[in-house]
Order: sequence, then C-alpha cells, then structure tokens
Amino acid sequence: MDCIFCKIINNEIPSYTIYEDENVKCFLDINPVSKGHTLIVPKKHIKDFYDIDNETLLNVFDACKKVTNLINKKLKPNGIRLLQNNGVLQDVKHFHLHIIPSYTKEEKNNNAEDVFQLLTK
Ligand code: 5GP
Ligand code: ZN
Repeated sequence: MDCIFCKIINNEIPSYTIYEDENVKCFLDINPVSKGHTLIVPKKHIKDFYDIDNETLLNVFDACKKVTNLINKKLKPNGIRLLQNNGVLQDVKHFHLHIIPSYTKEEKNNNAEDVFQLLTK
C-alpha cells in the first residue's frame, strides 16, 4: 500500500520519533506549525476518525497524554492544541492526531534535530 505514514511506521522513511510503543508511533511533523508539532499515528492503517475503533482511539490518546507531558516538561509551551482532520481537510489518509504547542513569544529555533534532542535527551 502506498501510504507515507505506513512507510514511516515501518522505518522505510526516516522520522524524528519521540515516542513509540506497540500500538502507536509519535514523530515530529515535517512542516511544523510550531516548535514540537508532533503527529500521533496508530500502527494499524486506519483512514480517519469515521473508521477508527475505540480501542485504537484510546491507544492514540494514551500516547497523546505521554507526549503532551513530555512537551510541557521540555519545551514549556503556554498551551497545546489537539487537531485531527477528516475529509477534504485531511492530506494524509492514515489517521493522525496533531499536537500543536503554542508559545508566548514566537519560537525561532524550530530545527527538527534540535527539537528532537530537547525532547529525547
Ligand atoms: P493532515 O492535513 O493530513 O491532517 O496533515 C498531514 C501532516 O503530515 C502535515 O502537517 C504534514 O506536514 C505532515 N507530513 C506529511 N508528510 C510527512 C512526512 O513524510 N513526514 C512527516 N514527519 N510529516 C509529514
Ligand atoms: Zn497507512
């Protein structure tokens, strides 16, 4: 199947993965809205919110709690927005939850390698 997120899950395409378990992979968005913009992706290929089962949804939100805790601790945003697109709003047709931190001042250093180091070291 030609799905970019399945390829990331299978490590065929590299990603800055900040959290992973048997059910989900959480990696930095390639085109971040803000510092630490992360995608939570179930390892099962599920298209969107209309298709996702409750157990997988729980796995996604369990991981989301862990990742938001990590971001709050390491990056100290003043707020975090959760976003999930469907239909024409959704570019990648593999379910994903966006974690989008916000900051009082605009964060200049949004370099993926640096953010990855901050979050994982
Ligand atoms: P959507 O509009 O489907 O909710 O958002 C898809 C998101 O996936 C976008 O924010 C986009 O930057 C991100 N994205 C697309 N391709 C890649 C990729 O190859 N790697 C990573 N890390 N993010 C990607
Ligand atoms: Zn997929």
